[in-house]
Amino acid sequence: MNLTGKKAIVTGGSRGIGKAIVMELAAQGCSVVFTYQNSEEAAKQIEFEASKDDVKVLGFKANAASFQEAEKTIQFALENLGGVDILVNNAGITRDGLLLRMSEQDFDNVISANLKSVFNYTKAAIKPMMAQRYGKIVNIASVVAVIGNPGQANYVAAKAGVIGITKSNAKEFASRNINVNAVAPGFIATDMTAKLNDKQKESMLANIPIKREGKAEEVAKVVSFLCSSDADYITGQVISVDGGMAM
Ligand code: NAP
Repeated sequence: MNLTGKKAIVTGGSRGIGKAIVMELAAQGCSVVFTYQNSEEAAKQIEFEASKDDVKVLGFKANAASFQEAEKTIQFALENLGGVDILVNNAGITRDGLLLRMSEQDFDNVISANLKSVFNYTKAAIKPMMAQRYGKIVNIASVVAVIGNPGQANYVAAKAGVIGITKSNAKEFASRNINVNAVAPGFIATDMTAKLNDKQKESMLANIPIKREGKAEEVAKVVSFLCSSDADYITGQVISVDGGMAM
């Protein structure tokens, strides 16, 4: 894989899987604008660690749930990197709870951050990609989108939507040389899964044939492959990185 000279946008790149994706793309020679919502200090540190001679890595504070802020991010990337070749829609949140107790706000917020964000960034980035007749879009879904999970109706609905929009967009943009795929991580060690209690973690591990949590870097490698020319003939697919959890 070689992404020398490519220009990417990664949403939610300040921590966890998003940070690993930023670091991996930069290591492959790709310049990156990544967004975050709160983690200003962490963003500065990533800029410092990942930038090198021909690789610019820049953080940009933007709420992925806002279409206007998505447009501002694309503008920032066009001005500072000179184009957009790759878009990774990674930003996401959980607000878990059984449906009977789930508030309308927790449902709406999870749909906005995980699903509407994919619409926002794809719509904002697609014009420059279509004009240059080149683009790679990778959406981060989740294994639960296909198997369901009690206590996560909002999150599972959002991630199932991410798979749907991935397939529709793959069909819409294939003729413009734009590939759209999804990666579905399983149980990956990040701040998001650190919130689970021991019982929830044990029950997750019991369903993973490989018998361990995944690493953010293991997801990032697959994302980077899908962003490379090695994956030119792959579109509309959902690639699981889940230790065999869903098969
Ligand atoms: P994480 O550690 O909680 O990190 C989330 C990242 O997204 C942070 O950089 C955060 O920014 C950013 N973010 C959240 N809401 C945002 C918003 N509205 N606008 C902009 N940025 C926002 O999560 P993670 O585990 O790395 O998850 C990354 C993606 O993988 C998510 O889409 C998640 O659903 C998916 N996923 C994770 C797992 C897992 O096991 N960890 C499994 C399947 C799928 P701040 O730092 O500024 O808050």
